[in-house]
Amino acid sequence: AVEIRDLHKHFGRLEVLRGIDFTVEPGQVVCVIGPSGSGKSTLLRCVNLLEQPTSGKVFVEGVELTHIDVDIDAARRRVGMVFQQFNLFPHMTVLENVTIAQRRVLKRGKAESERIARENLDRVGLSEKADSYPAQLSGGQQQRVAIARALAMSPSLMLFDEPTSALDPELVGDVLTVMRKLAEEGMTMLVVTHEMAFARDVADRVVFMDGGVIVEDGPPDQVIGAPQHERTKSFLRRVL
Ligand code: ATP
Ligand code: MG
Repeated sequence: AVEIRDLHKHFGRLEVLRGIDFTVEPGQVVCVIGPSGSGKSTLLRCVNLLEQPTSGKVFVEGVELTHIDVDIDAARRRVGMVFQQFNLFPHMTVLENVTIAQRRVLKRGKAESERIARENLDRVGLSEKADSYPAQLSGGQQQRVAIARALAMSPSLMLFDEPTSALDPELVGDVLTVMRKLAEEGMTMLVVTHEMAFARDVADRVVFMDGGVIVEDGPPDQVIGAPQHERTKSFLRRVL
């Protein structure tokens, strides 16, 4: 579902991505791990063109997003993204937060968008919170609303950038449970995370990045369980 070929990204003279190649097959979960500043967020942002790559190609569902003629908005709609910060609209209810982009971007009608919103709130275990405001929810509940909001756009791929890093420890589990369920349902997912247990249990592949390159890419048993490279080993010693 995602193919990245020789992706480079510069910010001025700083080269943050230095030739990234990998593929996420449909239904796969790939976790990206690596030290701060290694380029993980930049990689994710290049996959949905929140950042314009300096060179290289990104394909989603066979469509080259980096092609000059591509309709970026249409292509981006296929990709859902969940950030560390939930970015819900504080003056809107949960239901309104999950319907607004469906209505404005996908032009779905009120009844249909509300039906789809309720289905997805149910999926993340929050159907009773439809009429609450974000400030009335815990951080974990807000993040699950953000996940429902992304899912309501019917994406073929979900990107997660450290979705649990801003949460109190006791709230992390609920969000990971929702992500685990999505993975079991066959959602294609690219997840930047520091949650090694999640990566080990849920990922089909783990990608270790350092200094803008992929150092290691393989099944979790291999990359986390039996890393080959010294850089991977020293990173894991620090986080495990
Ligand atoms: P973290 O684990 O801390 O989130 P990361 O692996 O996600 O780190 P990135 O956010 O991708 O790292 O940043 C990689 C490098 O690119 C860093 O040196 C960062 O300062 C730089 N960088 C990121 N975005 C920009 C930008 N818009 N302009 C200039 N430099 C940037
Ligand atoms: Mg980051």
